[in-house]
Parts: sequence; structure tokens; C-alpha cells
Amino acid sequence: MELELAREVAEKFFNKSGSIKVLAGERNPNFLVTTAAGKFVLKIHSGEEVSQIHIQQTALASLEQLVKFQTPVTIPAVSGELLVDIGEGKFARMLTWIDGELWSQSKDLGQNNKAQLGRLIASVDSQLANVDCKDYRATLDQPFGWNALQAKELVADIGLIQDLELRKQVSIVFDRITNRTLAKVLALPHQLIHNDANDNNVVVANGSVTGLIDFGDLIYAPRVCGLAVGCAYQLDANDPVASIYAIVRGYHEVSALSPAELEVLFDLICLRVATSVVMAHKQLAADPGNEYLSISQDFFRTLLPALTSVSDRLSHYRLRNACGYDAHPDSRHVRQWLATTDAKISDVVMPPFADAKKIWLDWSGENKNIARSWEAIEAEMHAAGADVAIGHYCEDRNVYESDFFVDEGKESRTVHLAVDLFAPAGTPVYAALDGKVFLFHDNTAHLDNGPMIVLEHETDQGVKFHTLYAHLSRESLEGLSVGKEIKSGQQIATMGTEEVNVGWPPHTHFQIIMDLCDMAHDIWGVAAISELPVWRSMCPNPNLILRIPEGTDVHAHMKTETLAQEREVVLSRALSLNFQKHLEIVSGKGAYLYDRAGGKYLDLVNNVAHLGHSHPRVVAAAHKQMLTLNTNTRYYNQNAIEYARALAGTLPDPLSVVFFVNSGSEANDLALRLARTHTKANGMMVLEHAYHGHITSIIDISPYKFNGPGGEGCPEHVRVAPIPDAYKGIHRGEGCGDKYAADFASTMKTLDQPLCAFISESIVSSGGQVPLAPGFLKQAFATTRAAGGLCISDEVQIGMGRMGSTFWGFELHDVVPDIVTIGKPLGSGHPLAAVVTTPEIANSFITGMEYFNTFGGNPVSAAIGQTVLDVIVDEALQRNALNVGNYLMDGVRELSKSIECIGDVRGSGLFIGVEFVTDRASQSPGTQITKDLIEFARENGVFLSSDGPGDNVLKIKPPMIIGKSEVDQFLDVLKRGLKR
Ligand code: PMP
Repeated sequence: MELELAREVAEKFFNKSGSIKVLAGERNPNFLVTTAAGKFVLKIHSGEEVSQIHIQQTALASLEQLVKFQTPVTIPAVSGELLVDIGEGKFARMLTWIDGELWSQSKDLGQNNKAQLGRLIASVDSQLANVDCKDYRATLDQPFGWNALQAKELVADIGLIQDLELRKQVSIVFDRITNRTLAKVLALPHQLIHNDANDNNVVVANGSVTGLIDFGDLIYAPRVCGLAVGCAYQLDANDPVASIYAIVRGYHEVSALSPAELEVLFDLICLRVATSVVMAHKQLAADPGNEYLSISQDFFRTLLPALTSVSDRLSHYRLRNACGYDAHPDSRHVRQWLATTDAKISDVVMPPFADAKKIWLDWSGENKNIARSWEAIEAEMHAAGADVAIGHYCEDRNVYESDFFVDEGKESRTVHLAVDLFAPAGTPVYAALDGKVFLFHDNTAHLDNGPMIVLEHETDQGVKFHTLYAHLSRESLEGLSVGKEIKSGQQIATMGTEEVNVGWPPHTHFQIIMDLCDMAHDIWGVAAISELPVWRSMCPNPNLILRIPEGTDVHAHMKTETLAQEREVVLSRALSLNFQKHLEIVSGKGAYLYDRAGGKYLDLVNNVAHLGHSHPRVVAAAHKQMLTLNTNTRYYNQNAIEYARALAGTLPDPLSVVFFVNSGSEANDLALRLARTHTKANGMMVLEHAYHGHITSIIDISPYKFNGPGGEGCPEHVRVAPIPDAYKGIHRGEGCGDKYAADFASTMKTLDQPLCAFISESIVSSGGQVPLAPGFLKQAFATTRAAGGLCISDEVQIGMGRMGSTFWGFELHDVVPDIVTIGKPLGSGHPLAAVVTTPEIANSFITGMEYFNTFGGNPVSAAIGQTVLDVIVDEALQRNALNVGNYLMDGVRELSKSIECIGDVRGSGLFIGVEFVTDRASQSPGTQITKDLIEFARENGVFLSSDGPGDNVLKIKPPMIIGKSEVDQFLDVLKRGLKR
């Protein structure tokens, strides 16, 4: 259609005039109309399309409910119609334009986009599931080459493919579908689906997937068909299945995929790829010169063999794993059965195996001195008087040198899936369970399995699984036949020699395998480390059978990328990670943390590792007490009692009764209970931006959370007083503490219920390390007490000597609270927290209801807590906090003379805030400056973090052991980072 005509239609029927441009479209003419009011898409249709357009409009109307993603919205014509007859058998409609660019053209795709694509498809599906398709079925089920449910109709066209290899690949895919998978697909629930989330229909903005367009391929089918389409256009030929994990996971997060859906997904993905080959050949047949079509087929030529050469069953298991399911659907059942069965489980070697003297061989890549030859192993066994040497399960080994373990361009397989039982050649091998011979073979390739036997077993519920015995003598295979019954404990083989065993010293490789996945004789005994979670499920720990109490699983260290992927599946995405570049931290010592690659970072963030990371005295105290006793507080135990006295001794009178708990949140929750029981009231006073913990009762008194993203606002029983910030608060300068105290009193008056308590920190950390304006706290305490409320000091962040000049934060203000809560630093890394109160308040808590806390104050925690107090004294850490803290603040103040963006330097001891501004006069927050500095510092070996409403305050709260040289390192990085 001519542009002119389109312009006319836009003006006449939709009253939209502006610039107009043709958009690419497979089927019908599309135009972009740009007017002063925004951008719109004008679509022109023929009369035959009208019924399909009605469905599209119904779908789009239902998708207007989508919250997190965008889809086009239909703009009515001047006449009010959604589709207008423009004459000559043509119809027009107008849609909103979705800002951004198409995935296919985007160069700015963020890390998380595949998961986001999955979430998009799932969100659209969830919405479309509400559309009643009763009246549309005739149109939706029309013959349509891209409808997976009609795959059979395309089979006849496979012959159009002249390239015989390509034709073979396509046939394999269609055979799987038509012979097996389609029936399962048809049995799934059907709904309206978009069916075309290819990269030309997915909109990306600011690096993130934001919308879906083109609803011309809607069909009525199981939703997994549409997910398969989205996956098919994102495949990487190197490892197609791994390349779509994130999409499938993203979908599953929004709307759970059932096992039945996951079972057919891989075949449907292959079908989409094969369909596009057949469809292209149909088009080529009609238009033989079309070069574009032949080029687009090149990719499929490499992709299809990659899809058909992998086991579809294994692919299914891998996709289950990507969603967080146990990779093999029956693995859990088999593991449970082996753990509980009364069936006879026999020793595989040397009965009674429990009595055999064992040693363990370390064949991990980390061991530079592996006993690889039989001579070396025998020598070790001899020295220890061992009957058998054990090789570990899930060990990442570097002994698999042969090509057999490397697939061109792919990751080598190095992680052991079995347990090795090393003993002299000729040692008898017995069947672990009743079963029958499933397979036996002599694998003669260098470093392969050698002669091996696979038995098949069955659980009480008829679930089949296998045991593999490899590296046997050749004679062991004589007289075997597939299906032969074998009894548990029956000798089935002897161990082979190194010659027979193609380069391995004599041992039996004993493995449990859920499914041989078309591996024929080439059964994997080792897997790629990146696929370890899949293979743990496929090949459960053989110790379920061997029952070696010392264990066999060494939990090979997975790659950082695998951990990142796993974390997305098994931990909540609400848990954030530090820094733009996420790090795997593997160890800590003193003030430093170390990443996997050996990178060393000065940790200025961690006030939990109060005495420094891995303090040897804390480790020793924990170890010693763990070796002796750990139980709850329902017995006399000197640790908790002596430690409670010592902790109370750091606090002013009459704070003397201690409750031990496990976290700061729990401490604050208990403080609330104590206060409520004592005052019989519920009203709470808190400070603006305060954070006191993550549990339900405490979110209610944390404006940082209830007024922050996802928060539900201030609860009825809570009032928020202005933060007494002398630097940038509503009152500043001399005497502002009094004004804040007056505000506090007037805010308290608005409470329409009796006051229970006022809780605050003495330096509000989540507010951006804001010291309370002088004089405020004393008056606020008096106001609170006059109203019958209690005063709670949250020392979770700031206590334990960190203030330098005082041991506790409240002491800076010359007050004594009624309740003190302590957390983070108390155990120097061990989860230990406490509430300390007066005997009178503690007495009110004696109501008849027992206070029991399983872990609180256990002997191990108490031993650690006591050690932390001891070390603070022995290493003079409070004095260090004062001296080093002042040195740090002086250093930053000096820098601020030449660096304008340093707006304020504040704090006490080693609890310091450095506030960045874009302009000192206006104090406007230097949020980006802070963000950039934190990343720069990380790159330069210093960990920093930020907080405050503008996220523009560096929170400096390092382990208390840092010295001036560490401060110099920080000051150097700060200077370089800010002067860039
Ligand atoms: N109070 C304050 C002031 C805190 O900063 C925090 C934790 N950041 C808590 C309480 C809660 O402590 P936890 O995370 O140990 O529950």
C-alpha cells in the first residue's frame, strides 16, 4: 500500500496526522505514524483476516492487565470501531507503539535478558489463559504451518529439502514428534498462546526485555508450544540446551512448568527449528531465487545436528534441572528407596566391607602428587595396612587425559560420578542388589571403561535404575546374557588388570545411573563440572549402597558461572548481590577478603567480622566447644552464664539480664515483646529511614522498608519522627537537637494509642550514617518515659567498642536505655545476638509462658561470644577504633579540601559516613559519584558500600583490627576514584 494512502487512512479514520513510515511485516502492510501525541502503528488487513483480527483484539485487550511488560493497545477509530472498513475490501486498525528496539537488532542486551524473555512469555501466557476461546476455535485451528499441533501436515513437505543430510535431520525431529511426543502434547491443557516470541517480536529497552508485539500467529495450544518458539530462536549450536536454561527458568518463575510440560519442551523446540527449515523450503519452492531464505538456512544446518545428536531424554532432564526440579524425575524416589528399603543390599567388594580397612585417594585436580599407578596406590595401601582404597564421588579430577573425555570445542568431562574401589586385580566383585543384566561390554578405547557390566534394578514401586561395575576382568563377561537374573551378593566379576583396563590401575568403578540416555556402551562415568547438579541427580551417590560412614562425596568446586546459575534457581531473587560485577568470595583473613581468582580486597563493609575475618581465637573457641558439647540453655552451663555476666558488665546499671538470640532482627522482636509485656501498650516511635530488621514485626517499625520499594506504608501503631540530621535535615546548626526533640514530642502526640516504646540507633546507619543531633536522644528518652514508654537502643550495627570513645552508641548521648539489642559484631561472624534489659522489665516477662530459644546462648555460641569480648580487650580494639577512625576521618577531611563532591564526613570511631554531593551548596545527592566510586574501589581492591535515602553516603564500618596502612590504601583509592 502506498504511503500516501496510509497517511490518508490515518488522518481520515483515526484523526492522526504526522510523519509516516513503512514497517517490515511478513503478511500485511504496517506503518509507523508519528504524531505530536506519540507513535502509533497502522495496520491494513484484507477481508479474510478479519476473524483473526478479532481474536488478536480480544487477546490485546486482555493483555492490558499486564503489569511488568508491555503489549500493543488497540486505539479506536474516530467512529469508535476497533477495526474500520476502509473500502475496496480492506480494513484498518491502529495500535500503540512500544518504545525500544527489537531484540534482533539490539546491541545492548543485559545479562539477565533470557530469563526476562521467559518471564515475558509466561506473563503473557498467564494473561491469555483467561481468554475464552470457544467462539474462536474455527479460526484458531485453521491449517497453519507454524502450529506445532499440526506437525503431521508438514511431513509430506520434508521431501522438498534437497540437502540429504539436512533432510535426514529434519526427519529425525518430525519422527520423534509424530511417533511419540505429539500425543503427550495434545494431552496437555490448551489455551490461547502468542506462538511467535522470536527475536523480531520481542522489544528491548535500556538493555532489558520490556514487551511483545505481533499477535498474528495466535493459536489454541498447550502453552509449552509457545515457550518452545521463544527458545528456538535463542539456541546456540555449541550447547543448545544450556543456551536456553535461563529462558525456561524465567518462565517457570512466573508460572510453574509442570513435569509433563517439561517432558515435551525439548522436542517442541527441535520441531520449531525443523519447521522453519521446511517452511523455508516451501517458500523456496515457490520462489527459487530467494537468496535471503537460503542464507537463513545456513545456521539451521549447524543447529539441527547439534539438536539431534544430543539425547532428548538428557535434554529433558537438563531443562528440569534448570527449573529447580530434581533432574531425573525418579531420582529422589530411588534415593529414598535406597535409604529405607528392606531389600538386601550387599557389599560390592570384600564382605563384610564395613570391616575392611580403607584409605582415601585424592585424585582431584588440586592434588599435585596423585597416586596414579597401581605401584603408587599399592604402596599407600601397604603403608596404611589398607584392604581397599576409595576414590571419591563428585571429585573434579585431572586424570582424564584421553580424547574420550573431550568433545571438540566443548568443556572436558572431569567430575567423577562413581566411587572407585581400588584393590588388587582378581578381587571378586558382587552385585549390590537383586536385578538383571542390562548390558555388558568390553570398552577397549584408551582410558575407557574396559570390561563392564550394567545391572538393572527395580524399587518397590517398579521404578527402574542401574548399577554399573567397570574395569573388570575380561573373564567376568563370559557366560553373561542380557536379562540374566542376578541375586544381591552374587559374585558377578573380578577386578581387571591395568592392561585389560585400558590404562587404569585395578579398581571397580561403581556407579548408580538413573537413565543411560542413549549412551549405548559409552556410559559416562565423569561429567562436565558445569553440569554437576544434573549429574548428581542422574547418578546418585553410590554411598547410598556402599554405606561408608566416613563418606565419599567431596563436592567438587563448581565454576562461578554455575554458582550464579544455580543461585538464581535455588535462592530467592529477592536476595541481592554486592557490586555490579558479582564476586565469588572464597576466604577471608583479617581485614581482607579473597575471590576465587586470588583477588585480594580490603573489606571496609563488614562490621560482622568484628575482630577480622577468621580470627584464630574465635575459630579455636568454636572448634574446641564443638568437639565437647553443644546443646540448648536448659542445663547449667558455665559458658552462657559467665558470658552473660561479662556482656552485662560492658553496660551501665541496671542493665543486667541477658537473653541470647540468633540475629539482630530476632533481638529487636524480643525487645518489642519485652516492652509490650511490660507496658501493656503497643504504640511505637521510630526515626525516619530507620531499619531494625527483616522479620514481620520489625518491618513494621522500619520506615526504611515500609516506606521503601515494595513497602506497604506506615502501620497504625507506629509514628515516624524526623531524622535528627544536623547536616541536611529539616533543622540544622547549633541547637537543632532541641528542635528535633520538639518534633519528636509533637509526632508522638499523634499516636492514638498508648505508647509502648521508642527504638533508635545512635547513628542511624540505614539513613546514611547519620549521628543523632546533640541533645536529641536525651530529650526523646525523657519524652518517651513521660508517656509511659520504654527506650530501646539498637546497637546491632554500632555497638561493641566500634564508637571508639565509648563501648556503646547510646553512651555518646549520656543516656541509659531500658533495653539494648546487640547483633552483628557479637559473634564476630558467628550468628549470635542478644537483648539486655533491667531485672524489672525481665520480671514482667515472667508470665507463665516459657521463653525457649533453641539455639540462643548455646555453649558454642557463648564460647565464641566470650572470646570476642576477650579479644576486644586483649588486642585493645576499642582504642584502635578511636585512633584509626580519627585518622581515617582526618584523611577524608583533608581530601575534601580539594575534592568538592565530599559534602560531609561524620561518625564515631570506625563507624563513618562520607556523604557525596554534586554541589555543596544545594547538597544534592551524588548518587552516581558514589556508585562509580564503589565499582572503582572494587576494581582497585577495596570493598565499600553505600546507604542513605539518596544512596550517596559511603558506609565505612570495617573489622576493628584495621590499621593506618589499610586506611592509607583506602585514602589512595578514594583520591584516585574521585579525581578521575
Ligand atoms: N538493626 C539494625 C540497625 C541493623 O542494621 C540490622 C541489620 N542490618 C538489624 C537490626 C537486623 O539484624 P539481622 O540482619 O541480624 O537480623
